[in-house]
This record gives sequence, C-alpha cells and structure tokens, in this order.
Amino acid sequence: MIDPTCIFCKILAGQIPAYKVYEDEDAFAFLDIAPFEKGHVLVVTKHHAPYLTDLEKPTLFTLITAVQNVAALLLKKLPCDGFNLVQNNGLCATQVVPHVHFHIVPRWNDRTVNWIPGKYDDPAELAAIHRRLTT
Ligand code: AMP
Ligand code: ZN
Repeated sequence: MIDPTCIFCKILAGQIPAYKVYEDEDAFAFLDIAPFEKGHVLVVTKHHAPYLTDLEKPTLFTLITAVQNVAALLLKKLPCDGFNLVQNNGLCATQVVPHVHFHIVPRWNDRTVNWIPGKYDDPAELAAIHRRLTT
C-alpha cells in the first residue's frame, strides 16, 4: 500500500532518491540523511502504515528479519561494534515520518552513548502502572 503524500512511499516508488543498502520483497533500507552516527540506516516496510502495531504479523516478521540482516551488514562492513534499534510511533514519540521504520544506529566501543534515565516518583506509582498493564 502506498500513500502518495508519504516521503518513504515516494522513496519506495523511486520518486525521491535514496542511498539504498538493502532490499527484499517486503523491506527497503537506506542511509538516514540526518544520521545520529555515520552509517545510520532506516529499514522501512513496503506497506504504508503509521504505527508498528498496524502491521500484520507476517509483514512485521519480514521487517524485523530485514533489520537483522542490515544490522549484520553494518557490523561487518562499516564496521561497527554494536548498534541501537530505535522505532518511533506517534508525534509524541518524535516520529516525523508516519510510515513504519526502524532506525539502526551504529555504535563503537570507544564512543559513549548518552541515554538519560528517568525515575518513578515512588513504588506506588510503579505498582499502579504495572496494575494498569496487567488487569
Ligand atoms: P522518525 O523521527 O522516526 O520518523 O525518523 C524519520 C527519519 O527519516 C529521520 O531520522 C530523518 O533524518 C529521515 N529522513 C527523512 N527524509 C529522508 C530522506 N529523504 N532520506 C533519508 N532519510 C530521511
Ligand atoms: Zn508511506
């Protein structure tokens, strides 16, 4: 499925150029133009859908398999020592392009990654959220 207003659908349709690094029946991967690290790749599904939760299970399976293949490519050919997967859903989660994609961000042993951890106000808040998810 294609959305003519979607930038990733335009890339898939060949209307916008991209630095392709991988393609299979259901997935397409290319270099991110504004990389978190050099070699940052986006792996997109060929089915236009905004959220990961919108995908049919077989599509998700082929997408995550493509992610694994591309990550292996980065480890071997960049090369890099590790990688982060980032997958945003919704504007509130900083998703700018509403077409399901995984970011693969290469990482190296001699470079630090800064994740800023948060915290729960108290154990009751943690317990309340756990209850909401499990009842
Ligand atoms: P997200 O915030 O998860 O929706 O990420 C969208 C990503 O798409 C951003 O990291 C952008 O740099 C990237 N991006 C947008 N347009 C292009 C493009 N034409 N070619 C490559 N990457 C793109
Ligand atoms: Zn799209």
